[in-house]
Amino acid sequence: MTRPGRIPRALRPALASPGGKCYRHCDRPIRTRHLASRLPGTWQVRACPSGVVSVTSYAEWTRRDPTRAVHAVLRRWAVPSSLVRAWDLRLATRHGPELGRSAERFLAAARPKRVVRVVYWRVYPSRARDGTERRLFVCFRRRHPGPVFFVAPPTAETWGCPRCARRPNARDRPTR
Ligand SMILES: [Zn+2]
Ligand SMILES: [Zn+2]
Repeated sequence: MTRPGRIPRALRPALASPGGKCYRHCDRPIRTRHLASRLPGTWQVRACPSGVVSVTSYAEWTRRDPTRAVHAVLRRWAVPSSLVRAWDLRLATRHGPELGRSAERFLAAARPKRVVRVVYWRVYPSRARDGTERRLFVCFRRRHPGPVFFVAPPTAETWGCPRCARRPNARDRPTR
């Protein structure tokens, strides 16, 4: 039996992240990091080796709309929590056909009927008042209880993670 909400194995390949390169920052390959939370579904954070985030997503096999719960978890991970704004969260509903033939068959046969809901959190690059570019970063250092999301100017010399003061590190290995 799978835990309610959990993404079953049969659906995981359909939700795997595409590759891609870090847009308008370093052009290096994006890596996907899978995270756990108190929610039953699956988190994916897509970021470049320097920690610039392209998108964070949460997928759940469910009948409910998980957006509010996702918002609450992200607010605990972000510094400051006001970084997570409701209008940056977007809900997508996947009924099957768009996930591929085997996922579609799986969803059609499962009872009770559920869909895959994916909540995307995307923070676009912005400019501070003085014109400095600001990007969303994530720090995955092991001593943090969860990921630390924050905004920083990627070109400045002085910034670091607000919790550990270090820059997100390319040596950190992604976990699966
Ligand atoms: Zn980058
Ligand atoms: Zn940190």
